[in-house]
Amino acid sequence: MGNGIQSVRGMDDLFGEKARLWFFVESKMRQVFSAYGYDEIRTPLVEYETLFKRGVGETSDIVQKEMYSFLESDAEGAAKVVLRPEGTAPVVRALVEHKSYQQLPVKWFYVGPMYRKERPQKGRYRQFHQYGFEVFGEKGAGLDAETLLLVQTLLESCGLNTFEIQLNTLGDLEDRLRYKTALLDYFSKHESSLSPLSQSRMHKNPLRIFDSKDEGDQSICNSAPLLKDYIGPEAKAHWEKTLQGCQELGIRYKLNHKLVRGLDYYCRTVFEVTDTSGKLGAQNALGGGGRYDGLVSELGGPEMPAIGFAGGFERLLLSLPESIIEKQSAENRFDLGIIDPGENEHRLAAQIVKHLRSKQLKVDWDPEAGKSFKNLIKRADRMKVKKSLILGSQEIESGLLKVKDMGSGQETNVTLAKPLNQISIEELSQEICKIL
Ligand code: AMP
Repeated sequence: MGNGIQSVRGMDDLFGEKARLWFFVESKMRQVFSAYGYDEIRTPLVEYETLFKRGVGETSDIVQKEMYSFLESDAEGAAKVVLRPEGTAPVVRALVEHKSYQQLPVKWFYVGPMYRKERPQKGRYRQFHQYGFEVFGEKGAGLDAETLLLVQTLLESCGLNTFEIQLNTLGDLEDRLRYKTALLDYFSKHESSLSPLSQSRMHKNPLRIFDSKDEGDQSICNSAPLLKDYIGPEAKAHWEKTLQGCQELGIRYKLNHKLVRGLDYYCRTVFEVTDTSGKLGAQNALGGGGRYDGLVSELGGPEMPAIGFAGGFERLLLSLPESIIEKQSAENRFDLGIIDPGENEHRLAAQIVKHLRSKQLKVDWDPEAGKSFKNLIKRADRMKVKKSLILGSQEIESGLLKVKDMGSGQETNVTLAKPLNQISIEELSQEICKIL
């Protein structure tokens, strides 16, 4: 460690190979979001604490113990602000604040950092990134199915094939209240056998006992009443249509009647995506989402249906198959490196490089003139360029284009009609592209 200052625990730097992979995944997602008609929204990293107290729920772990909070200013009575721990509440806040709901539906996506005071471990960080989306103003079950299709498409577009979508319905608020009463009744009978954490959750929100990792709690949960038996007719019809839509759209899902999601605001369709590659260990949740029809009005807007999803960027990267990582790494290599010892060659090379780069070719070039041939070849190896363009004085005089494949060592020569220094840069670049 030495005496140097390190990054804050659980907050990582992003660079090199991982940054390139990140860019690849994010660009794929942006393409998919665009095709599905979503616009980007960027909200501030800092919001008032009350937003999350109301938007996420006072009993959630996030609000109870995971937020980084500080005062908005030094002024007396300044409000408490927090680093955002999640994306949905800020997006709803923005929707209400700007009255963006005047033209519905609103379809927004976001990508950005979130902050939670958690114990860092593999797949769990204090600064992590989420990609997510929210749709406001559509209550039909068709959207629930399309939402799941979007999640499946987002993951597949990045090359991920080891994931499972688990699906459940929470019914409507009244259904859940009836269910909560039944649950409370059931858990009260087993109170003394529950873990202390579940005992404390029992009266605040008995649904959360299902989240417990304790084995004793789990076996009690196995015989608990199931929410699906308390769903009213409207929510039931919505659920059946959602499943039908999923079938029609080719969504691969698994029913999980115990899935409740940690946050209070969900209703009807809820889902979670888990990694099945085994690469993530205990932290195998790739993302989750669902309907939250009551949240917009809870945060001061009109009654409005809404649905959304949020996934973890770091975990997605960790679960990508090796083949995708290798393919990306190969595609990210330089198309061409320039071997141009000598002043004249260097001047010509400068023009060629500028032109090729303007055509979106990835070109490595040492902008400092006067490097030896040997040095430049070494650089080409170090930079892992795919091919090298050899521009020596002999080549320039004879009008010879020489390109060396750095992997196989094979050289391709093309004799130009005119000496290299008499041909236009456009023509020359075209000739180079032909032998790349
Ligand atoms: P949540 O908002 O808790 O439902 O989280 C949605 C997704 O974000 C999770 O499924 C994870 O993939 C990711 N995630 C949540 N918390 C963390 C964290 N502390 N570190 C890394 N990823 C996280």
